[in-house]
Amino acid sequence: MLNQIETKNMSDTIEQVKCLIIGSGPAGYTAAIYASRANMFPVLYQGTQPGGQLTTTNDVENFPGYPDGITGPEMMIELQNQATRFGTDVRDGWITKVDFSGDIHKVWVNDTKEIHCQTVIISTGASAKYLGLESEQKYLKLGGGVSACAVCDGFFYRNQEVVIVGAGDSAAEEAHYLSKLCTKVTMLVRRDEFRASKIMANRVINTPNIEILYNTETDEVLGDGQVVTGVRAYNNKTEEKFEIPATGFFVAIGHKPNTDIFKDFLDLDETGYIINVPGTSKTNIDGVFVSGDAADHVYRQAVTAAGTGCMAALDAERYLAAKESDFEVSTSTYN
Ligand code: NDP
Repeated sequence: MLNQIETKNMSDTIEQVKCLIIGSGPAGYTAAIYASRANMFPVLYQGTQPGGQLTTTNDVENFPGYPDGITGPEMMIELQNQATRFGTDVRDGWITKVDFSGDIHKVWVNDTKEIHCQTVIISTGASAKYLGLESEQKYLKLGGGVSACAVCDGFFYRNQEVVIVGAGDSAAEEAHYLSKLCTKVTMLVRRDEFRASKIMANRVINTPNIEILYNTETDEVLGDGQVVTGVRAYNNKTEEKFEIPATGFFVAIGHKPNTDIFKDFLDLDETGYIINVPGTSKTNIDGVFVSGDAADHVYRQAVTAAGTGCMAALDAERYLAAKESDFEVSTSTYN
């Protein structure tokens, strides 16, 4: 049976690995835990944001097994420790290019180092879009009331007033979710209509504690230096500015899956999410698997990402086992 160390000696310049995992969020580390326990000697590249999106989250209270909650960065360290305990080779580095046109999948790290992989598990995640205002970024970094995930953070604002920006299905779903926890949700819609589907928009319109302000954009997120205290908004027709008191500022203007480098080889949907074979982690390329938010625009939770990371490692293991038994059959035919 080939393993990473044996194959490494085959070339000084090109490293050969059995299982390469790209990304270090809950999907990537869960894939790593399963792959290392299955003797697949996984190598995991962390990317530019080691730990992924959860490192920008303060408290995680909805991941099973943490009854008292845990901070996002702490949870990611625990997941990394669990993966390395079983032998995962966790490395710094950014995958800049891939070539999935042949049987061996080629991957380049930082445009220089070339790796040949029998299997690749993509766990590159998605990045929430933000408005880009300095005040928004300040309170996001402080963990002081800016969030791009109502399901993750809404609970911290129960019985409080919040503002949410966006008018797509995500914003409608998140506003509705927040309306069940918060006393008041003010929704800022930049045009005079929703982008969300009619049914989702109607649900929001018919919820009494959601106030929708059309033609309204964010001027500044207001705060006391530590936490958010409100939002200064403006009507983009009249230019009138006004303040809305709020302790939470939710941004729901879409996500961008981190899949640009795969677009020449993998089937992506119109937003860039990788299309997987339903019910599996398989992509359109044999030996290339996907887990986590890179293929999921619906659930986007740490626990669902972890679940699909497990699926990807199991699918990769079965793929390798099938290849090895094919190899044994073909060599015994020659003998
Ligand atoms: P979308 O791209 O559909 O919507 C983004 C929204 O954010 C739009 O209303 C857009 O406004 C607004 N927006 C963008 N930039 C800004 C800005 N700078 N300031 C203010 N508003 C801004 O993203 P979603 O995440 O909502 O949805 C992504 C995909 O996932 C969609 O296909 C959606 O249908 C799907 N989805 C499905 C769900 C379900 O079926 N349960 C749940 C969630 C998502 P504008 O309209 O003016 O462009």
